[in-house]
Amino acid sequence: MQLQFLGGAEEVGRSAILVNDSLLLDYGMLTGNPPQFPVGSVDPDAVVVSHGHLDHVGTVPALLSGDDWPAVHWTPPTYELALTLARDTLKLHGGTYDCPFTETHIRRMTQQSEPHAYGETFEAADHEVTFYNAGHIPGSAHVLVDDGETRLLYTADFHTDDQRLVAGTTDRPDADVVICESTYSDVEHDDRATVEERFVESVRTTIWEGGTVVVPAFAIGRTQEILMVLDAHDIDCYVDGMGTRVLKMLRNYPDYVRDAAALKRAKSNARIVSGRDGQRRRIARQNSVIVTTSGMLSGGPAMTYIPEIRQDPTNKICLTGYQVEGTPGRELVERGRCELNGGVVPVAARAEMYDFSAHADKHGLRAFLTDYEDAPVFVNHGDRCAAFADELRADGYDASAPAVGAVVDV
Ligand SMILES: [Zn+2]
Repeated sequence: MQLQFLGGAEEVGRSAILVNDSLLLDYGMLTGNPPQFPVGSVDPDAVVVSHGHLDHVGTVPALLSGDDWPAVHWTPPTYELALTLARDTLKLHGGTYDCPFTETHIRRMTQQSEPHAYGETFEAADHEVTFYNAGHIPGSAHVLVDDGETRLLYTADFHTDDQRLVAGTTDRPDADVVICESTYSDVEHDDRATVEERFVESVRTTIWEGGTVVVPAFAIGRTQEILMVLDAHDIDCYVDGMGTRVLKMLRNYPDYVRDAAALKRAKSNARIVSGRDGQRRRIARQNSVIVTTSGMLSGGPAMTYIPEIRQDPTNKICLTGYQVEGTPGRELVERGRCELNGGVVPVAARAEMYDFSAHADKHGLRAFLTDYEDAPVFVNHGDRCAAFADELRADGYDASAPAVGAVVDV
């Protein structure tokens, strides 16, 4: 089996791996200014997508040009999320180099879509492929690929612990070779219940003090998780941004969430903001909790809420995930100021960070890999892939961290 790492190697973003020159696993986008796409030019017979995050699926529509379009295999929620993301990219960047596809390509995605449930083996580019629940977001999958000689397990993004939205991964299919993500290979997450408790306590305190809490959250997975946390603790809230569309969409996929009834309750508990800035400013002045995109304050309705609440120290901004270096969210946490609509402004409202991660931490990754001690392990999707591969090698694994562009035979 031959593997070509076209992106997402020694980095996070633009994940793409070409198997035997015919089967493509993921085709993502690295967001940034400008965004980056997988290297090389590919013409796969089929594409298999692990899950509906931009860094895994963002560039898939661009594969559907010319006359010969590959089939695109994914779970039903991943297909829906891919459509949502593609339309959003087109809306934000259509007609520029930052968006390598058009509305026509997005329509072809629907024509070429072949959805599969977890555990169902299907054929793609002469390989047998099976999805297993990866416990990361609804519809996320580990991808097992069998070319008749070698079984490859591509873990993609996964979590070993339960979240409210999805249960942690438990499937460990037999494999001869593993490609493993490593996002949090040097982090130990605090216990989720403890993080929730601290978050809820902080939100409640601010509400009691008469303040407003803005909770920036990623649209896919995180927004819904936070709404479930707030509902479980009887805290009323507003929800705004692309996460509301995902929330509505997930109603149609009860089998892909951990507790469909709890998600439904969370949806009823949250008041959906329909999107006018006048309404947003009124809500921001209320004594309220607002869950909104974007998760790192780089856009979305948060850009309307933060200016409204920033000057009052009674107010609070509760960030709910890792803030990438160089993003306004990181600037806010580290320096108490924020780039808003073109200018840097001081923020008197208190900023706090809560680690609601959807990835396995150091212990989760190691526990997962104990089932694959005899398989070569290729570490990808992280800021310290080589260091994690070194740690694995020190413990007897045959581990390495290929660079973008690397070709390996296994
Ligand atoms: Zn992901």
